[in-house]
Amino acid sequence: MAEQAPFPHPSVFLDEKTLARIKGYRVHESRTPERPVRVITPSQTIGPFFAVGLHASNEDDLACTTPGGPRAGGTPIVVAGQVTDEHGRPVRKALIEVWQANRWGKYEHPDDITDAAVDPNFKGWGRMLTDAEGRYRFRSVLPGAYPNPGYDHWMRPPHIHFSIFAAGVMQRLITQLYFPDEPLNDIDPILNGVLDLQARASLIARRAGEADGVAAYTFDIVLKGPDQTEFFVDA
Ligand code: FE
Repeated sequence: MAEQAPFPHPSVFLDEKTLARIKGYRVHESRTPERPVRVITPSQTIGPFFAVGLHASNEDDLACTTPGGPRAGGTPIVVAGQVTDEHGRPVRKALIEVWQANRWGKYEHPDDITDAAVDPNFKGWGRMLTDAEGRYRFRSVLPGAYPNPGYDHWMRPPHIHFSIFAAGVMQRLITQLYFPDEPLNDIDPILNGVLDLQARASLIARRAGEADGVAAYTFDIVLKGPDQTEFFVDA
């Protein structure tokens, strides 16, 4: 077999002018370094594929395990919001993933070893795409509070975990939605670890009347800028 030629360095594929013609592609050192990257795979934009391949239409309902099947117990809710960038522009086709405990504060996860009851009709996770206006929406039930293992007397307030992935976002963004008027919010070390009050407030959903006959909550997500939603970051 003929010996394969060494794979050429990416910078020889396209010159800077050609790259600049590709809408939204910004050339910088970390994308097209001078020297070949041999150890670390260079980052690339996440691209649009995940929006098509990782999503099914029935994943916007956490409160049943099969479409049209029996519903999980608890207080039904609808959560909806808009994802925007730092200029207030909607972010379409963002992949939103959510997961939460059931009404008794139990996760559908083998590592949840608390005595709280499992609800066989509760799926507990969901995945959806934002539409052309950056909007998402899902159905669930109000999650219960649960004890944080390893800590005495620390009850996590009801919350929903969020992961956000979008074109141009190189690493998924992680945060938690909290509910208004929950006394446990005031003593939760994770929520109150966000010292900036405006940033902390960005994590508390707003009650928004009713939708589909159940309690509705609004949770908007701003990816960047002065009004940015507070996200967890690596230490
Ligand atoms: Fe949790």
